[in-house]
Amino acid sequence: MKPAPFAYHRPTTLGDALEVLSGNADAKVLAGGQSLVPLLSMRLAGPSALVDINAIPGLDTIEVTEAGVRIGALARHADVLAHEGVRRVQPLLPEALSYVAHATIRNRGTTVGSIVHADAAAEMPSVLVLLGGSVEAASTGGTRTIAAEDLFLGPLESTLRPEEIATSAFFPALPAGAGVAFDEIARRQGDYALVGLGAVVDGDSVRASYVSVSDVPTVVDLSGVPDDRLGEVALEHLDPVDDIHATAAYRAQLVRVLTKRVVTKAREAAR
Ligand SMILES: Cc1cc2nc3c(=O)[nH]c(=O)nc-3n(C[C@H](O)[C@H](O)[C@H](O)COP(=O)(O)OP(=O)(O)OC[C@H]3O[C@@H](n4cnc5c(N)ncnc54)[C@H](O)[C@@H]3O)c2cc1C
Repeated sequence: MKPAPFAYHRPTTLGDALEVLSGNADAKVLAGGQSLVPLLSMRLAGPSALVDINAIPGLDTIEVTEAGVRIGALARHADVLAHEGVRRVQPLLPEALSYVAHATIRNRGTTVGSIVHADAAAEMPSVLVLLGGSVEAASTGGTRTIAAEDLFLGPLESTLRPEEIATSAFFPALPAGAGVAFDEIARRQGDYALVGLGAVVDGDSVRASYVSVSDVPTVVDLSGVPDDRLGEVALEHLDPVDDIHATAAYRAQLVRVLTKRVVTKAREAAR
């Protein structure tokens, strides 16, 4: 199918982009287009206008400091994945990004776009919540910081307002001595996960965050849980979804197997 007609704007400043958005209640931001364009083509989204942000300079930055990694709205998954500084300061990012789609999609899709698209089957929202990160949002009224735990409301639904552009996402650095791991099960490499999870082990603290299990990314505190109970305890906090891709019972079994595997890997990485 072809998209329904829409007006197309390609502003060259953030201010101009925000002006267009503030006057168009159902306009959509276009970043990498790897999620939005399929939705337009299938007519699951029908905005009156697209605001393409790709001609705005300065949004493709990846800043690495000892505090963490700040990823600009136009930084592509592939650039974040290949960035040596990112790998050093927050190794969970490249580990999880290697499971995001295929190389061609990672070349164009943006990490910030993936976060604000708010798909519970996507890796980056889950990683942002697990690490306690945040998103910087701009509108004609100013800027604000949205903590990851306040960002996700439901499937493809976030607290980012229609008139806002997410300008960057911040992922805090991994503390010294802590370890991380990520793993997932998908039907084919590059497909969305049937179940995935990331884990952070920091001293006695063990936390895991799940992909494709619930409607929003869910972080579970597994500190002090014996290894043979990790999956069962995780399931007490999760409500696996039943859909065309997998039954809830199968997802629960994947949670059991993967939780132990990923927490063990994160412990080993912490040594
Ligand atoms: C075949 C296929 C397989 C895929 N597999 C995976 C996968 O396994 N895991 C995964 O995580 N992703 C997967 N993706 C999605 C991919 O990661 C997308 O790139 C990503 O979800 C969205 O990023 P984008 O830059 O392409 O956003 P777009 O498609 O441009 O936008 C997506 C949504 O976010 C909004 N948006 C984007 N950027 C901003 C911004 N800066 N401010 C405000 N709103 C914004 C848009 O308005 C739109 O609603 C897959 C995509 C395809 C086509």
